[in-house]
Amino acid sequence: MLTKSSTELVRQQNSALVLASLRRHGPLAHTDISHHTGLASATVSVITAELEKAEVLERREQLASASRGRPRVIFGQRRDAGYLATVRISSDMVQYSLADYGGTLLDRFEEPRNHADTATRPFTEAFVAALDKLADRSRIDRGQVLVVSISSKGLVDPQTARLVWSPVFGAQQVDFAALLQPPWRAKILLSNETLLVAHAMALRMEKAGARDLQAVAALSLGHSIGLGIARFDRSGELSVTAPNFGHMLNSSDGKLCRCGAQGCIEASAGFYGILRTAFEVPPDTIPAKFVPLAEMDKIALRARQGHRMSEYAFRQAGLALGQGLSRVVSLYENMPIAITGPGTRYFDLLQRGLEEGLAQSQQVRLFGAPPISVVPEEATLVLEGHLDRALAEMDHDVIVARTVGD
Ligand SMILES: [Zn+2]
Repeated sequence: MLTKSSTELVRQQNSALVLASLRRHGPLAHTDISHHTGLASATVSVITAELEKAEVLERREQLASASRGRPRVIFGQRRDAGYLATVRISSDMVQYSLADYGGTLLDRFEEPRNHADTATRPFTEAFVAALDKLADRSRIDRGQVLVVSISSKGLVDPQTARLVWSPVFGAQQVDFAALLQPPWRAKILLSNETLLVAHAMALRMEKAGARDLQAVAALSLGHSIGLGIARFDRSGELSVTAPNFGHMLNSSDGKLCRCGAQGCIEASAGFYGILRTAFEVPPDTIPAKFVPLAEMDKIALRARQGHRMSEYAFRQAGLALGQGLSRVVSLYENMPIAITGPGTRYFDLLQRGLEEGLAQSQQVRLFGAPPISVVPEEATLVLEGHLDRALAEMDHDVIVARTVGD
């Protein structure tokens, strides 16, 4: 059939509403599904029966809170309806996680990366082997893994699951979809890492009951600088982007960036930029590939002890970040900004420059600075973002597959 009938589309939309409400609120009783989705009781019955038959949902009995009364029937996802793997690529390690359809984490391990090794071949071979290991350790058939969700810093093309430019591999592209051959049949999702952080922050703030929340930005500080912006549309639908903030031209100061350009925000605010200024190395010196945290800690210690050049390096970094953020709020609107990543350890040293940079713009002088919070647990946020996006994709595919199968 070439066109879907409208009743079929309505049914798909209603099924999507039911699955989305279970993701949002956890397992629910029939009346609560009806309440949260606004669907009629009879419609909910038809949908839950269909999804049970398709082995997507299951009934569970929940003991009533009062000692008398019959147990309540609630609906939840069948945990074995499918699995998802997440892969977080960083400059010094790759983290692999496995979760079930209910969103429960089943396994996780990390493999160190040699950050001096910029060839893609050893990485892609280790990647395929690690995914095999992930499935084997939990005795899950590769065909049951429905989504592999990958994240990296840098520029990604989500449509083709290609890593376009990354701090790890530079301009060498990685085509993830081509790497996994049968028996894998998983859909590959590739996201910028800070996009996932922004996604997770928006969900956290929404859950915490933030009022009139329209947008949230996440700024990640470390070897590279990442930005994600999550926006809610009128219907409460979330859309998230990752503008190329770290490599946005900030100043014609001649500071050489890892991307080859000069004057990027990262060239001042990335770890190598701070190191370069602190040691008074000429700004056009080729950036260090990797700066160990211990090295940054030493510079920070010296700055806190009043060493002028070290203090100045962090202040300059903060200034570049603040100026960059002032442009973001001038272009979009004022929004809460969550700062994350290993660089949050030095927030005390960055803060003054950051506030100064923000205050230089008319937008901030007139409307005030955006509320800034520090959220150090970046890895947890990345995983939350991976899970929410991958599970939503699985829900969508489940509904489409079921309708096509009719
Ligand atoms: Zn750059």
